Amino acid sequence: MPGGVAQKRETDREPDVVAMPEADADQDAADQQVAVRESHEAIGREEVPDEGREESPDVDEAAVSAEDEAASKLQHDLTIEMGGGSHTVTKKDTLWEISEATYGHGKYWKKIRSANPGKVSARRNGHRDLIHTGDELALPLVKVGPRDAFEAMVVNDPALREFADQFAMNDEQLMGMLQQARSTGMTYAQMIDAQRQFYEAQAAERGISAGEYIAEMHGSIGGGTNAGKSTKWAEEVENGREAAWQARFEAAEEKVRTQSRPDVRQAIEEATANGGVFKWNPSKLDALGVVAMGSNWNITVGMDWVEAAEDDVDRVAASVMHEMFGHGAYGAVRAMFVANESFAQLDPEEQAKANPALVSLTFGYWESEIFAELIEFGHDRVDNPTDHAFGVNPSGEDMSDGKTQTHDVRKQLQEAKAGVAPTLLPGLLQGLWRRIQNEERIQDEARAMFLRDVREVLGDVL
Ligand SMILES: [Zn+2]
Repeated sequence: MPGGVAQKRETDREPDVVAMPEADADQDAADQQVAVRESHEAIGREEVPDEGREESPDVDEAAVSAEDEAASKLQHDLTIEMGGGSHTVTKKDTLWEISEATYGHGKYWKKIRSANPGKVSARRNGHRDLIHTGDELALPLVKVGPRDAFEAMVVNDPALREFADQFAMNDEQLMGMLQQARSTGMTYAQMIDAQRQFYEAQAAERGISAGEYIAEMHGSIGGGTNAGKSTKWAEEVENGREAAWQARFEAAEEKVRTQSRPDVRQAIEEATANGGVFKWNPSKLDALGVVAMGSNWNITVGMDWVEAAEDDVDRVAASVMHEMFGHGAYGAVRAMFVANESFAQLDPEEQAKANPALVSLTFGYWESEIFAELIEFGHDRVDNPTDHAFGVNPSGEDMSDGKTQTHDVRKQLQEAKAGVAPTLLPGLLQGLWRRIQNEERIQDEARAMFLRDVREVLGDVL
């Protein structure tokens, strides 16, 4: 069970952990659910007007510019370079098949032919171009699209297919995953193994078992449980106000859909086009002590969220952008996949010592959470009923608000450092960074502060 520190933090995070297993079990990508924390605490605070985004936040621009520049050289296009090395021709080889195995599709065969002058006999008499057994063919580096790259990589990495099959990934999501696999230089099977060994090594260091270590980590970085702390909804039910609240929720949703700022409305439309809906589940959220949760493109809300929206739609803009758009757009969480599969490799007795639903969020959820926080950043206000991405908002206002854990991006990076095998971290961050770079809704200031936090939190392990 959590100690004092964890108690302090639990309102921020732990609830979604608990919500994971039961939330939206009907969704076709249940594992991808990222149900989310947000605390009640700030509800009712005095409104602070949003002064726009002209002012620069407290960022040392010069310090991050070098990294920014280096980062901007990452692939912006939806291609990934495949090939390199060579292939020794065997009896049944064809250029088409070599191309297929190397680049994921046979259509690149002419690239191989061009790279090997003299080793491919010209087509004649209706026969195909000939290659000769024993010849060593150079395999040129070729930029191929994510679908082709995936097909080529899955040959050596079957778990990649397993992961991809769980989710309907768009090209950008697929690129993030491929980027990770490439940067890590490991197959998913190796990553999963490395993470399991990490659990075991961490446990051994503390003289406990892997299952005990994982259970302990849930307490130390995820917090304890908020369940049952609030009786607010129960009282509403007792007083017969369920129908009235349902009506208030519907009115709040309508207000948010129609009166939010244009960029928020547009994000809601995009989420809606992807099947996302507003869900009313006050008993769950109240019991968990959260304001809102996300799963796929959905946002599930409770009483505090409705009250904030009634007061001013801008107070829930950060929450909507975070839950509906941020987590929805990020999609499949690669670190979570590795964490879950690693946990599944432990002995059943060890697994029984920890809550599998907490494994995802303790060891893998940070990736999607950081992305969602960066999306949210532009809408952070002191009177959001939720936490904040950084210590300042785009207007430079102080977001710390007397709380110890308001910088969620930094917190998530700390959790990644504590919970992910060091060999995996750089690759996971590369995939995440790629997505951050290519998401136009993320502001440059947010990118800069993210890089600053990466340097400060992970500088010694990267
Ligand atoms: Zn989140």
